[in-house]
Amino acid sequence: MLSLIKNRQLVNSQLFINGHWISAADGQTFDVYNPFDHELLGKVADGGVEETEEAIVAAHTALASWQALAAIDRSRILKRWHNLVLENQEDLAILLTLEQGKPLTESRGEIAYGASYIEWFAEEAKRVYGDTIPGPQADKRTIVLKQPIGVVAAITPWNFPNAMITRKVAPALAAGCTVVLKPSEETPFSALAIAYLASEAGVPPGVFNVITTTQAAEAGEVLTSSPVVKKLSFTGSTAIGKLLMKQCADTVKKLSLELGGNAPFIVFNDADVDAAVEGAIVSKYRNAGQTCVCANRIYVQEAVYDVFVEKLKVATDKLRLGSGLNEGVNIGPLINEKAATKVEGLVKDALECGASLELGGHRFYSGSLLYLPTIITDARFEMKISSEEIFGPVAAVYKFETVDEVIRLANNTDAGLAAYFYGKDNALIWKVAEALEYGMVGINTGIISDAAAPFGGVKQSGFGREGSKYGLDDYLVTKYLSIKT
Ligand code: NAP
Repeated sequence: MLSLIKNRQLVNSQLFINGHWISAADGQTFDVYNPFDHELLGKVADGGVEETEEAIVAAHTALASWQALAAIDRSRILKRWHNLVLENQEDLAILLTLEQGKPLTESRGEIAYGASYIEWFAEEAKRVYGDTIPGPQADKRTIVLKQPIGVVAAITPWNFPNAMITRKVAPALAAGCTVVLKPSEETPFSALAIAYLASEAGVPPGVFNVITTTQAAEAGEVLTSSPVVKKLSFTGSTAIGKLLMKQCADTVKKLSLELGGNAPFIVFNDADVDAAVEGAIVSKYRNAGQTCVCANRIYVQEAVYDVFVEKLKVATDKLRLGSGLNEGVNIGPLINEKAATKVEGLVKDALECGASLELGGHRFYSGSLLYLPTIITDARFEMKISSEEIFGPVAAVYKFETVDEVIRLANNTDAGLAAYFYGKDNALIWKVAEALEYGMVGINTGIISDAAAPFGGVKQSGFGREGSKYGLDDYLVTKYLSIKT
C-alpha cells in the first residue's frame, strides 16, 4: 500500500543520522503494519544503543555551526520546510493513515496542524529577545541573553505521528538546538518522511537525526544518561514520563513532559445542548478516541442529562467505521491489540459496576481493531473508566447536580491536561474556568489546539508548553552579563 505514495522520496526505512540514511549496524529491521487490515507496510531499520550514540555525536558536532547561523537564516530554512510539508500534504496524510489508521481527513488536518508549528517557530526564531536591566551601580550594566540549550532528545508517541514531532523539532531548531528524535515504533514512516523534507529544505546534516527502534528503553537510557544531551522533550504516557524524569536526574536535564490526560467535559443546565453534543463528538471520537485531550468523563447536569444522552446517541450512531483511506469513514482502527483489549476491559468493568450500555460496546467484528463508537451512561467515580485514560471511542456519561459538585469531581484526578465545559452564564463561566485544575480549558468548544496557544498540562500531565510565544523558552537557557563600564 505504500505504493499509494506518489513522491517516492518520502518513503524511507533507514535511520537518519548526520544527513545519511543508514541501516542498523547489526542489519536488524522491524515490521510496520497497517492497523486496519494488519497488512505489512514495510521493514524499518531497528537502531539500538550504538546508533543512538552515533546520532548524539552527530547532533553535538552540528551544534556549533547551527547555533552560529543568523536567526533569519534558520527562519528561512524552517519556512522552506513548512512549504515542503504542505506541498506533500496528501502523500504525508496517506502515509500517516496507513501506519496509524486515522481517517484521511484527520490525517490531512494533522499535516496542516503539524506544519503550522513549523511556520510559527520559523517566525519566532527571529524573536529570541533578551533584556537590559538597570544595573545595581552607576557603572554596572546587566544584560540578559537567551541561548540555545544544546543537543535535544525528543521522544514521541504514535497517536499524532507528525504533529507531535514538529511541535518539538521546530522550536528546537528555531532556537538553535540540534535534535535526536526517537519516534514510536508503531509510526516510523511519518517521522522519516518529515526528516527527509527537513533535509530537502536545507537543515544541515546532524541537526535533525531520527532513530527508529523497537528498543525504546535502551535508546531512552542512552539519551537520558548522555551528558551531551542537555534537554529531553517527551510526549507519551505518564508512567514512561516519570521513568524518564528519574533517568534524567543524574545529568540534571531540562525537561518538557507532555503526558496523559483525563479530560472532564461538563455540560451545564443552561448550555446549548446541540453545540455541546457537536463538541463532545469531535472531542471524544477524533482519532478513535486516541488523543491526550479526548473527553474522558462527560458530566451532564440533571436537567439536560436525558436530552443530551438522546442527542449524543443519534449523532454517535451516524459515525462510520472502516479503513481510514475510505471516503466518509469517521473512525479508524485502534493502534494495536493491547489498546483494543484495554478498551474492552474498561467497558466490561463499567458494566459490571452498574453502568448502562446505550450504544456499541464491542468490536466491529472478532479480531478487528475497529471498536464501535460506544456510549455508557450512569457512569460513576468508582469505575476504572473514570480514573484511566480510555484511549478508545467510548463516551462515559455521568450525571451531576451542582456546580461545586462537578468542579470537585472534575478535579479529582492526578491528570491536568485539558478540560471542557458548556454553559452560558457569565459568572458561571468565570468561576468554572478559574477553578478547573487543567493547563487548557475549552469553553463552549471541543477543539482547543492552535500553534499560537501554549499547549501543555499541570499536575501529573506534565510541564513545559508547546507552541505560542512561550514554546521557545523550553529550548533556551537564560544567561546574564554583569558588565562594569
Ligand atoms: P508511551 O508508551 O509512553 O510511548 C511514548 C514514546 O515513548 C514512544 O516513542 C515509545 O516508544 C517511547 N517509550 C516507551 N517506553 C520507553 C522507555 N522505557 N524509554 C524511552 N522511551 C520509551 O505512550 P503512547 O502509548 O505511545 O502514547 C499515548 C500516551 O501519550 C497517552 O497517555 C497520551 O495521553 C499521551 N499523549 C500526550 C500528549 C500531550 O501533549 N500531553 C499528546 C499525545 C499523547 P515505542 O512506541 O516504540 O514503544
